[in-house]
Amino acid sequence: MKEIPEHVHGTKNGYTQYCCRCISCKDANSAYKREYYKRNKDRIRAQQREYAKKNKDKISTYSKQYREKNKDKILAFQRQYREENKEKNRIYFRQYREKNKDKIRKYQREWLKRRKLNES
Ligand SMILES: [Zn+2]
Repeated sequence: MKEIPEHVHGTKNGYTQYCCRCISCKDANSAYKREYYKRNKDRIRAQQREYAKKNKDKISTYSKQYREKNKDKILAFQRQYREENKEKNRIYFRQYREKNKDKIRKYQREWLKRRKLNES
């Protein structure tokens, strides 16, 4: 193990060059990564978009093939997921309805109003 100079602690170099995992080196490294992403966000996003655009056909062919090949598996998985989360979903929806009662009612009222307007 390399001896770490005191002044390196709390810098990205402490983490990457000296493999120090003390809190201040870890902090410095994650701050650097965050900063890097923030500074290059547009570029990173543009690259991803560019890739998706360039490989649109490849990606859609691939996912179609994947779905085709794994149809049964995907269906079984979805069924199993629904089955397993039935109770959870029920509770969730009940809580959601309970919490958003007023919002839902208002939405339904507006929907009815719109429908009436369209009919007349
Ligand atoms: Zn350190």
